[in-house]
Amino acid sequence: MSRGEGDSPNLIPEIVIMAYVITDTCTKDELCVEACPTDCIHPKKDEEGFEAATQLWVDPEGCIDCGACVPVCPTNSIFIVDEVPEDKKEFIEKNAAYYAKA
Ligand code: SF4
Ligand code: SF4
Repeated sequence: MSRGEGDSPNLIPEIVIMAYVITDTCTKDELCVEACPTDCIHPKKDEEGFEAATQLWVDPEGCIDCGACVPVCPTNSIFIVDEVPEDKKEFIEKNAAYYAKA
């Protein structure tokens, strides 16, 4: 946890940074949705915005940091926030922003 460049000037203060983050290799197969005990991964197939969504997103308000979504993801697209790869860090904000504007 020694990375010192994680602070983004674009971070909106009221956005809650969730424990888990989905990144752009997500194929929207919903395996994580089925594994999530708090139903905090959206949009689902029967929800508005699913077709247009480039990937699914974790709701920071609902995520309980259980990690159940990680092993079921066939594309290794889900990371705990502290372990998001450097080239995927933009998705920390993008996950939060999806729900912030909802
Ligand atoms: S399991 Fe992985 S690929 Fe499937 S919807 Fe969830 S994050 Fe996307
Ligand atoms: S860590 Fe648990 S609560 Fe959070 S998105 Fe994954 S399965 Fe859902």
